[in-house]
Amino acid sequence: MPMYDFRCTQCGHPFTVRASFKEKDAGLQPECPVCHAVETQQVLTAGIFIGQAAGGGSSLPLPMSGPSCGCGSGGCGCG
Ligand SMILES: [Zn+2]
Repeated sequence: MPMYDFRCTQCGHPFTVRASFKEKDAGLQPECPVCHAVETQQVLTAGIFIGQAAGGGSSLPLPMSGPSCGCGSGGCGCG
């Protein structure tokens, strides 16, 4: 059964909840073990930074069409 990290939005206490996919899909609303508030929020520990890093916009510039060696005339045999 998978574990989910939650944090209480009332007292800030972090806790782990064990729930099935079915329970999670139905809208898991665990209770804080400290103050028993149901205002909790899931904490995504793994994967959240990976998703942000993948959104970068640096792409390699495409080479200009023509000889790859840069001779320009084709006389060097580069084709
Ligand atoms: Zn709490």
